[in-house]
Amino acid sequence: MTELRDHLMALADKAVAAGDGPRHAAPHPVNAVMISHWTEAMGDRNPAYTGPDAVAPPAMIQVWSMEGLSRDPAKEFRRPMDDVFDALDEAGYTGVVATNCEHTYHRYLSMGEELTSSTRMLDMVGPKRTALGEGYFVTWNVTWFSGDEPVAEMMFRLLKFQPLRPVEKAKREPYPLRPAVNDDTRFFWDGVQAGELRIQKCGGCGELRHPPGPVCPSCRSAERTHVVASGTGTVYSYVVHHHPPVPGQETPFVVAVVELPEGVRMVGNIVQCPIGEVYVGMPVRVTYQEMDDELTLPMWAPIPEEA
Ligand code: ZN
Repeated sequence: MTELRDHLMALADKAVAAGDGPRHAAPHPVNAVMISHWTEAMGDRNPAYTGPDAVAPPAMIQVWSMEGLSRDPAKEFRRPMDDVFDALDEAGYTGVVATNCEHTYHRYLSMGEELTSSTRMLDMVGPKRTALGEGYFVTWNVTWFSGDEPVAEMMFRLLKFQPLRPVEKAKREPYPLRPAVNDDTRFFWDGVQAGELRIQKCGGCGELRHPPGPVCPSCRSAERTHVVASGTGTVYSYVVHHHPPVPGQETPFVVAVVELPEGVRMVGNIVQCPIGEVYVGMPVRVTYQEMDDELTLPMWAPIPEEA
């Protein structure tokens, strides 16, 4: 472990000592079209950014040096810290999360200015234990130039971390949202543990009902039993949950009302399906998701269409 740390630190020291990386030309001069897209996206109606004497919004400085999707900047030029990032990836520090970003603007930019940018690695700190996993904080600085004049700077810090394995995580932290199990619902959760999707059935008139309750809404009988559902259904309705954050869940996720052929509807998450591909009427099958060592929750996965 110490050897790995020494190796990573040596690479980091070398990158820091290398100082400023090569100047890289921005793909387009400062222009009104890019500014218009940016101000629209940000909802920024400052009149200084339109008209014949317009200046560029300082906060969009990083936009000018972005390469676009079709070019691979890693192949075109290497930044001083790219060797460090490669070594961190190789050592299993594959996770990445940005932690700090500070901009400094020296003056406004006018239409037609041709920019270059240069990157300098500032430092690396670690390994540190974080909630995401053990990792190294890497900090660098980008300077933008118009001609030889520095016009803006950005300090950027990110954490490269070894993602905790889901199994290890589950052992450490129980899934925070536990279902409320009571005398009316215990048969359902016992079924889930046994790999059965159970539907409550009235012991009087035989009507099926979900969610479970103490009394039949049709005949008022308190006698109840259950049947085992086939485990298929169709999406009756759904929402994509973006906000607020839900403990133990990564957003966004899909919560659906699933209509069962047995005639009841159940609420559950849709899994194993890209969010954009969920649709009303989608055929789904129940799947049992182990949330931690003790809790299993029924969720719904798409049934592939017959070819
Ligand atoms: Zn009944």
